[in-house]
Amino acid sequence: MNSVLQAKSATDALAQLRQVFESAVALLASRCAVDGHLDGRRVDERQVASFDLVWASAELLAAESVLRVLTDCDATELDRRLALTYAVEAIGSVISRLEGVFLEFDCSAPELQMLATSTDLRDLRLAICNGASLQQTGNALADCDGEIGRVDLGEELLMVQNQFRRFAADVVAPLAERIHRLDLTVPEALLTPLREMGLFGLSIPEEYGGVATGDLDSNMTMIVATEALSEASLAAAGSLITRPEILARALITGGTEEQKRKWLPRIALGDPLCAIAITEPDFGSDVASLSLRATRAQGGWHLDGAKTWCTFAGKAGLIMVVARTDPDRSLGHRGLSALLAEKPVYEGHDFEYEQGTGGRLTGRAIPTIGYRGMHSFDLSFQNFFVPDANVIGGEKGLGRGFYFTMSGMIGGRLQTAARASGVMRAAFRAALRYARQRKVFGSPLVSYQLTGAKLAKMAARLAASRQLAYSVGRLPSIGGAHTEASLVKLFACRSAEMITREALQIFGGIGYAEETSVSRYFVDARVLSIFEGAEEILALKVIVKGLLEQYLERQKAA
Ligand SMILES: Cc1cc2nc3c(=O)[nH]c(=O)nc-3n(C[C@H](O)[C@H](O)[C@H](O)COP(=O)(O)OP(=O)(O)OC[C@H]3O[C@@H](n4cnc5c(N)ncnc54)[C@H](O)[C@@H]3O)c2cc1C
Repeated sequence: MNSVLQAKSATDALAQLRQVFESAVALLASRCAVDGHLDGRRVDERQVASFDLVWASAELLAAESVLRVLTDCDATELDRRLALTYAVEAIGSVISRLEGVFLEFDCSAPELQMLATSTDLRDLRLAICNGASLQQTGNALADCDGEIGRVDLGEELLMVQNQFRRFAADVVAPLAERIHRLDLTVPEALLTPLREMGLFGLSIPEEYGGVATGDLDSNMTMIVATEALSEASLAAAGSLITRPEILARALITGGTEEQKRKWLPRIALGDPLCAIAITEPDFGSDVASLSLRATRAQGGWHLDGAKTWCTFAGKAGLIMVVARTDPDRSLGHRGLSALLAEKPVYEGHDFEYEQGTGGRLTGRAIPTIGYRGMHSFDLSFQNFFVPDANVIGGEKGLGRGFYFTMSGMIGGRLQTAARASGVMRAAFRAALRYARQRKVFGSPLVSYQLTGAKLAKMAARLAASRQLAYSVGRLPSIGGAHTEASLVKLFACRSAEMITREALQIFGGIGYAEETSVSRYFVDARVLSIFEGAEEILALKVIVKGLLEQYLERQKAA
């Protein structure tokens, strides 16, 4: 099968799968809707099929994104091979997931069976993913510079990428291992230069002291910088702007003009650093049930209750606390508001702050297997005073904290996909280097078929994940792209787990040693599918609902 036929065959198979996928969406929507409206209880009764549908959607989208390189005249032969490798992998996986969805409802999908058994697909699989072909792709990788999933950034973004990659390699990487192994706090030696480089202002509009000139520009710059820093360290550098990103977007969406003018320029300077306190010991995914109380006091509010997993709360001077300002719990998320709690900066793993007015805030860092440097804290608020001026949106913002937070989360999810890309890239490059230099049974590891195949599949997934993240980052208004941002986050984070796992495996025993950076990549990557919307919650509460609702809307309009 020549390369033209391979490209045609992959493109045709994806187009057919897209049609079957739409039938699966229609099927699930018909079972989960009541009077044309989606019923959350019915979706919950079909979680397994929903999860399969979401993964089919993510893999299909990733395959479609990466396959665009086939029409890119600047793409190399290696780019094309990797695109086809991922597409073939994805086609197999999507077929199996969609079979699961149809099976769940005891329905048959003849088009799926036809595709699964077609000779074209068989020939394509044979050409791209048999052992010898994968080894050939692995050999091509062995000679490459590790630059996988090339995206056309344009001159300005390339400069940003170079600047942050240089900083990551020269300044972050030498400190990363020590911070991780000794569980140190991110030092000023990293924070000060990053402030000077404008990192904290990347998503903040120019008129409020940042450097973003538009939604698109800010997304892309944020993705590029985050990916570059995460390659050296997810925890000590690549995640530093997640919290400012969420808080700034919440302020831009819901803050009063006075609040924007006061806080955004300061957040853009990285002074104060910020933290986000949503999760509580009893409620994480179930944000609508949050219970930390805010009660009216003279000129403001008193916060009482516990938060947990509040990352960087020690170094932060400003914490966005999502609290229940309306005691009527039946209001769910409509009783929540976002309040800005100010506090002094503390180094280390514990702090206690007395406000002088009788208010108190204590914090204790939770020991974790990875993602060390910022520390994630258990917090206890007792009679903690927050002035009226610090309620996002003022009186009009009361009860709208959930919406403001979610608007921040969209950018946060895209940013998390970029974080995942950086970690994957680091793990892949480390594995490639090691496979070239390590000799087993007298030959370099990379020369063995299975190692070549592993590297080929890792690189193919990395390329697909990058293409997907950058294509969603380029959407003109990410504010409306809730489903897409969640899909990208879901796919990239799982990919980071898979790639860091394979990288560690390629290192063998030494990969399990703390002294080897792949062990850090592995434990760091594991958290990505838990925070910023756990994988299951993104799939079941955001993405599947988005897919089914879009379908029901189209039906209504037809
Ligand atoms: C290192 C780290 C840093 C963090 N930083 C922050 C931070 O800065 N600020 C902050 O507010 N939070 C932070 N978090 C918290 C994180 O957002 C939560 O852990 C996450 O939202 C999940 O909540 P949970 O831990 O309570 O799990 P739970 O909600 O108890 O869920 C447990 C498991 O069940 C699944 N699940 C939940 N509901 C359902 C359902 N209906 N059906 C099927 N499966 C379900 C979940 O996906 C998860 O796998 C951080 C967490 C970690 C680990």
